[in-house]
Amino acid sequence: MPSSDKGLRVIIVGGGIAGLTLANILQYSNIDFLLLERRDVIDPQIGASIGIMPNENRILDQLGCFDAIDELVETIDAVSEHWADGQKIGPSKELGAQVERSFGYGFCFLDRRAVWKILYDHIHDKSKVLLNKHVARVENAKDSVIVHTKDGESYHGDLVVGCDGIRSKVREERWRIAAPRLPQAVLERERNAITAEYRCLFGISNAVESFAEGEGYNTYTKDRSIMSNVGKGGRVYWFCFEKYPRRLQNDEIPRYSDEEAVAFAEKFVHYAVGPQVKFRDLWEQRQTYALVGLEEAAFEIWSDERIALVGDCVHKMTPNAGQGGNAAIDYTLSRKCCHQAKRTPRIKPIMKSANYATRMQALKGPREVALIKYVQPVLKDSFANSMRHNFVSAERVNFLPLTQRSASGTTTFNPSQGPGQEESKATRALKALPIFLLFTLTISTILKGDISLAMFKPFFESGKIIWDGGSVAVMSKFYGIKVVDMIFAPMVVAFAQ
Ligand SMILES: Cc1cc2nc3c(=O)[nH]c(=O)nc-3n(C[C@H](O)[C@H](O)[C@H](O)COP(=O)(O)OP(=O)(O)OC[C@H]3O[C@@H](n4cnc5c(N)ncnc54)[C@H](O)[C@@H]3O)c2cc1C
Repeated sequence: MPSSDKGLRVIIVGGGIAGLTLANILQYSNIDFLLLERRDVIDPQIGASIGIMPNENRILDQLGCFDAIDELVETIDAVSEHWADGQKIGPSKELGAQVERSFGYGFCFLDRRAVWKILYDHIHDKSKVLLNKHVARVENAKDSVIVHTKDGESYHGDLVVGCDGIRSKVREERWRIAAPRLPQAVLERERNAITAEYRCLFGISNAVESFAEGEGYNTYTKDRSIMSNVGKGGRVYWFCFEKYPRRLQNDEIPRYSDEEAVAFAEKFVHYAVGPQVKFRDLWEQRQTYALVGLEEAAFEIWSDERIALVGDCVHKMTPNAGQGGNAAIDYTLSRKCCHQAKRTPRIKPIMKSANYATRMQALKGPREVALIKYVQPVLKDSFANSMRHNFVSAERVNFLPLTQRSASGTTTFNPSQGPGQEESKATRALKALPIFLLFTLTISTILKGDISLAMFKPFFESGKIIWDGGSVAVMSKFYGIKVVDMIFAPMVVAFAQ
């Protein structure tokens, strides 16, 4: 089959989230494309869900897919955390509503196959998506690239984009083609890049009593954790994580049978996943499930000559932060698709924090226990804030208009902020120095003068500041940390006076 004579033609290998999104984007450009997918259906039920965040939603909105997704979801509003015996850890964290207020899009869960279907439905020319096409070889020709499939067909293009997941054939072919030019050490690093420290049983269950739509529940215990999110109609999307005894590499990472998945679930059935709900209740209501090793990998080379890689085949992270699929769309599928230098500064910190979330929730060590037990309950908004930080620099499709909804939040999307754009701590400290000096001067002036802490006692005893026109309640709790609040409370009264 010849390459298009109309202009540039891209061969997309893989019809997952990355491949289907890229196809949707290219159909609005003047670049022709052909998508080759090895499966025989576009949206098989593989038991998986997907959490969709504002950075992904904004692009799906530009592509006209967001409304169809929005109809199927319920924003995950509050997340509560528990120990495995059911004891709650601190107050529930407000999440979806905060994120939605900030960016105009919430945070929601739905069946992954529904997203595949919606993306596919929005491709206008279905003849450009070929199923049962298992790519076996990629070959560089003089002015083109040729992709060979196992059924003996060949497809010519100007560029091939591998969207074929963590076990990518296109990535392997890129190594083979580039081997004579690449240093052996780089090739070795690339070939050994996939590791796994955790495995995960994930699934979808019918509604269970006392789990409400839009709620999320996390359970933590040593080396294990459970995440469950309740979507529309009470459908529960859940994940049980367990640490491997040691870090596994590449082919050591097993593929699991159904019997192994069922045996794995037994280890979790007695854990609480929320108020009055044990994992047993979710397991009994299961519709689908699968057990997988959770690969982690950050590959160094994302594009080479006529081959580019997108999605899990170049950056694979654990799913606790729900960023893998979002990253496949956001961090790679703009016009920067082939500019690795522009893509890596953002993705690296995202991967680091996503992989760390898995370790923290499985209480990896004393630091993680302290964070979950003492720090997180106090920093109530920290989760929503860290998510906001990830979303603020979200990509957009540059040649498509933004929708009104993407400008309806209180925070402006800004590519010069977010992960990888942070100021160094030394610069921040230097900038804060004048404020710190003023603060110190103020405190020492107050303490030298005739103002003493005893002056504030009546206000705290009565709980009010009274003046001619009325009164106002004295605030004495700010951070929930007693010693810090004791410093701030008199200062606030002094300024309120
Ligand atoms: C348990 C779990 C939960 C997750 N939850 C979330 C979440 O909540 N939010 C989130 O954003 N991410 C989540 N992720 C991550 C997310 O699923 C992935 O990051 C995302 O699906 C990657 O999409 P992709 O298109 O790059 O790859 P894939 O989804 O792996 O798609 C690759 C496609 O390529 C095809 N293919 C492979 N080889 C060939 C070949 N040789 N020829 C032709 N076709 C080929 C495959 O059949 C497949 O359709 C989760 C992952 C796991 C394991």
